[in-house]
Amino acid sequence: DTAILWFRQDLRLADNPALRAACRDADRLIPVYILETDTDPWAPGAASRWWLHHSLSALDAALRERGSRLHLLQGEAGACLQQLVAASGTTAVYWNRRLEPAAIARDRDIKAELKQRGIACHSFNAALLVEPWDHLNQQGRPYRVFTPFWRSLQPRLDSLAPQRTPSQLPGLPRRRGHSLQLDALGLLPEHDWDAGLHDEWQPGETGAHNRLRTLLERRLQRYPEARDRPDADGTSRLSPHLHFGELGPRQVLARIQQHAGARRSPGLVGAGEQYLRQLAWREFAHHLLYHFPETAERPLDSRFKAFPWRNDPDSLRAWQRGSTGIPLVDAGMRELWHTGWMHNRVRMVVASFLTKNLGIHWLEGARWFWDTLVDADLANNTLGWQWTAGCGADAAPFFRIFNPVTQAQKFDPDGSYLRRWLPELAALPDKWLARPWEAPAAVLAEAGVEPGATYPRPLVDLKASRERALAGWDAIRTHN
Ligand code: FAD
Repeated sequence: DTAILWFRQDLRLADNPALRAACRDADRLIPVYILETDTDPWAPGAASRWWLHHSLSALDAALRERGSRLHLLQGEAGACLQQLVAASGTTAVYWNRRLEPAAIARDRDIKAELKQRGIACHSFNAALLVEPWDHLNQQGRPYRVFTPFWRSLQPRLDSLAPQRTPSQLPGLPRRRGHSLQLDALGLLPEHDWDAGLHDEWQPGETGAHNRLRTLLERRLQRYPEARDRPDADGTSRLSPHLHFGELGPRQVLARIQQHAGARRSPGLVGAGEQYLRQLAWREFAHHLLYHFPETAERPLDSRFKAFPWRNDPDSLRAWQRGSTGIPLVDAGMRELWHTGWMHNRVRMVVASFLTKNLGIHWLEGARWFWDTLVDADLANNTLGWQWTAGCGADAAPFFRIFNPVTQAQKFDPDGSYLRRWLPELAALPDKWLARPWEAPAAVLAEAGVEPGATYPRPLVDLKASRERALAGWDAIRTHN
């Protein structure tokens, strides 16, 4: 029999349950990726499209090594699959589930249409440790608080193992219609702003495993102390690989458990647990979006529907460009623009600054991140923004407004992160680096900093804007 394996956000061969099942059942297999021309407001942004291009190229190379190749199509997914089925005489389609609201609705329709034509559809879990309907609280409801979610997940971890994929894949059928060339998908940018991305990333399964190895060999031991420090290269940077499914969470879990177990070092076991706890935030985010699908656009805490957000395009643009005059915010936004990634602590700081000090709606920030992050992920991004804005599940209370000056002093104490991204301030002494507007004129002159010329003056006064934010919160906190 001929089958189709529909790749989506699972761009890997290892631990791929749909691929494994298709290999077991079919004599001929067409691995296909369909670039959807859809009207979804959360269609992949520019940085994600760059990543996708390179990841598809890597996937095709890996398939060729195993005697197959990637078939590429573009269009409406249901119609593309119908055509491919008709051209190849396929009897079954396999895929791994996606749980974003638009993907769920689309998959349901496709499944119904294919079934009507007598085509079997088989779907699997490759993206999560446990799926949302399979991990509820004692009342059978979704968790809305992280700690109990994590506590009840922990005892389940030992039973989750990655699955093996056969080394040789079924061959392609002779008849299968026309496949597009990768370049024809037009995923790469027209203007070459992507040099920074090339320097930083290796999209694809091999790149993902290289990062995982670096985590285990060099970063895990000090992860608990270093993970909060943007100046230390202390986190795994696995997020884009996990988003595109070049690596699955069960694989990460297994390697962490093996590594910590083999070393028998309590420190490493503790660090492994801390790391898995972060990975569980990813699970939590995906479960929340599944149970509360409206939260991609609307606050989970409905009081925030009445929040007096400000419409301020100039400030939004300054934030996007990293020219707010607040060094930690600007450093983060420039890191994002150049590398497609930003450290988690700095993400919280820039998000707090946008939503609270500038009073701009969190969705404006979420959309910018969506276009510029290589790890843009609807579940994680929604959770991150709503958490910081104070309107999400288990969110930071609204009155917790990050102070970008003290955050920089605490988490980048010698200023190396700020100096890397803001060379125009590099000569300032540590004392003034995070708050150049308070530096004496002579110090600024000595460091070659001219406020308003070489580096912007602050867009807002941190204290006054904080008070305005708190007044906005006071106005809505008693709403129902
Ligand atoms: P590590 O510290 O090595 O963590 C390991 C993995 O755990 C990550 O790869 C990620 O998959 C997961 N993880 C860690 N922290 C979180 C978290 N807070 N929430 C959910 N998952 C987490 N992450 C994204 O993957 N995509 C996004 O679009 C995204 N948008 C965010 C927006 C805001 C405003 C904030 C505050 C956070 C956002 N995050 C997002 C979460 C977090 O910042 C990144 O996952 C993390 O910085 C990725 O770096 P890493 O892989 O080195 O993390």
